[in-house]
Amino acid sequence: MKRAQIKIHGIVQGVGFRPFIHRLVEELALRGYIKNTSSGVELELEGEETALEHFAERLPREAPKLAVIEHTEFSLTDELLGYEDFRILQSKTEALRDTLISPDIAICPDCLRELLDPADRRYRYPFINCTNCGPRFTIIRDLPYDRARTSMRSFPMCPDCDREYHDIRNRRYHAQPDCCPDCGPRVTYYDAEGRALPGDAIRLAQQTLREGGIVAVKGLGGMHLACRCDDPAIAQKLRRRKHRDEKPFAVMCRDTAAARRWCHVSGEEEALLSGVRRPIVLLRKKEKGLEHLSENGFLGVMLPYTPLHVLLFDGAFDALVMTSANLSDTPILKDNAAALSELHGIADGFLLHDREIQTRCDDSLCWVLDGAEYFARRSRGYVPFPVKVPGCPGGILACGAEQKASFCLTKPDYLFPSQHIGDLKNAETCEHYEAQIRHFERLFDIRPTLLVCDRHPDYLSTAYALERGAKEGLPVLQVQHHHAHMAACMADNGLEGPVIGLVWDGTGYGDDGTVWGGECLIGDYRSFERFGSIRPMALIGGDRAVKELDRVAYVLRREAGIAQEENEVFEKMLAASLNCPLSSGMGRLFDGAAALLGLKTTAGYEGQGAVLLEAAATETEESYPVKLAGEPLRFDWRPMLREMERDRLHGVPTGEIAGRFHNTLVRMAVSQCLAAREKSGLCDVALSGGTFQNMILMKKLPAALEREGFRVWRHRRVSPNDEGLSLGQAMIAASLREDK
Ligand code: ZN
Ligand code: ZN
Ligand code: FE
Repeated sequence: MKRAQIKIHGIVQGVGFRPFIHRLVEELALRGYIKNTSSGVELELEGEETALEHFAERLPREAPKLAVIEHTEFSLTDELLGYEDFRILQSKTEALRDTLISPDIAICPDCLRELLDPADRRYRYPFINCTNCGPRFTIIRDLPYDRARTSMRSFPMCPDCDREYHDIRNRRYHAQPDCCPDCGPRVTYYDAEGRALPGDAIRLAQQTLREGGIVAVKGLGGMHLACRCDDPAIAQKLRRRKHRDEKPFAVMCRDTAAARRWCHVSGEEEALLSGVRRPIVLLRKKEKGLEHLSENGFLGVMLPYTPLHVLLFDGAFDALVMTSANLSDTPILKDNAAALSELHGIADGFLLHDREIQTRCDDSLCWVLDGAEYFARRSRGYVPFPVKVPGCPGGILACGAEQKASFCLTKPDYLFPSQHIGDLKNAETCEHYEAQIRHFERLFDIRPTLLVCDRHPDYLSTAYALERGAKEGLPVLQVQHHHAHMAACMADNGLEGPVIGLVWDGTGYGDDGTVWGGECLIGDYRSFERFGSIRPMALIGGDRAVKELDRVAYVLRREAGIAQEENEVFEKMLAASLNCPLSSGMGRLFDGAAALLGLKTTAGYEGQGAVLLEAAATETEESYPVKLAGEPLRFDWRPMLREMERDRLHGVPTGEIAGRFHNTLVRMAVSQCLAAREKSGLCDVALSGGTFQNMILMKKLPAALEREGFRVWRHRRVSPNDEGLSLGQAMIAASLREDK
């Protein structure tokens, strides 16, 4: 007989960890206790030495999938205390346990088996779930997490479910959303006019889809619009009705085999697609084509993640378009009544159910890069898991950016970045943003004492921070946009700094009153220096130039001395500096290059120029001249553009020119970093900003920097685009708070 003292560090609270331990301990006939600590859990166990060894062995292997065990301390002693049973002790830090809420989890293999087993009492029941899977974040109204405080409160458990719920040996022990056909939610199918139809709702939806119709489907964190994806005419119909002219559609595939018909799927991508989180994974298309779904080289693919999705596909489809049901950038629809009215005329049918979605959560969207997620959007399956930063103070609210809004709240040692919120310029989205801040504050029991936001005076997130600061008498810190990007990437990688930060994006408010976005910074959380940038260009008409790419191309040609027809209006505006703000945005350089090559003159969505330029590029080793000069050390793009134009006139293929353009930027970045290292002695380079959603850059730039002896850091847990900004803002505020 021995006694073991075990400390488990990591995120092991709120993920079904204690029931798991309880079962394991019972099985191995161990006695003792478990209690929560601020960093995880602590156990004392007595029993046979071999049983204790089995415990240590099985713990990491069998732990709930969402548990993050950072490390375990295990020590054995002969000194027995004579525990008689196993207890779950309440502790002072109990409050913290309750604050860690699990994200929503895709249907698990056990539930999937039962779902398709005619002998099971939940056969074909679309809401089957257990401790290891099902809705969480999206149904929680308040804490502590129990059924009465979730959307399941209107579904009292039947005796059978209640028995499972209280049986520690059962997979559904303490599974708050546990239910069955006798006691749980139900699906209903509505026709285009919103009339509920009798019959099997799922088969009715399949029927409409098969006939080429568009069906609104209620998911975990919001509604989707679904349609067949094998017929371009049907996808076109959906685009027309949804006014989503050019943005790519995501598709849901029945399984990875179906995804492989169109896309390359690596082992790592397959694991992510079929794992517990199931984001939309951006997969490389096997060949050009599928233009009706996505105009670039990638297709966003996800697998069914709720039992309802599984049933919708069952025996009917290999793949369906599955796009968020929202109109003109408003938040994703979540309520039945709103769906029936807002999607009238868009959907030919509605597959709805009566379990309320408490919290919106869009599908997460990512690439797989070197075996790990690289986010374009971090939402379902990930939120509200925190980022752990030991020593981080609590009470900070970071308000994020504007177009890809998010916020981030802190507790000691933990930062909680929000889900994808959307574009705040939209009144409904702004409301959603404020409501989510309140929801997070209540859920995680955080009362902000310090607010932090961008320096951009017109961001609605800035306005929110300033107003709230004034109203509640709280200090408001305004931080520079690209500094926050760099800090976000540092925090994402647990770096203290200082680092060289390459921050490339479209637009960010600069400290000199111009627009920044092609920046090479040197600094840490506390401060930064703008070491390098790119030659600024005038944006004719300001924001209009972000849409009308030919305006950027006009200025680029003009500056580079490339012949073109003179535009009198533009010339007048430029001469008078009338609404022609200067920008060093890398996104604009991509836009302008795309327009010069004739790929696009008017953007249908933000960043489209860059997306098309990347898609067009073919593999090449060639590049254009790199000229750097001045202070900050600026990339002069004029020689590059002149040679691009010469190539174009000589009939060099567009793809080759686009490839050379990418290579030039890689070489430019390396030269800037070498100069920055010369000056600072720093070897760490953090990559952040929306431009680094370009997979050519993400493949070539780190390799080129590493060849020169740099260590390269990229985002891992939040997006490189403005959605990741709030994490960096929070870290900058945290560093200043520590100083005091
Ligand atoms: Zn399950
Ligand atoms: Zn039941
Ligand atoms: Fe940005």
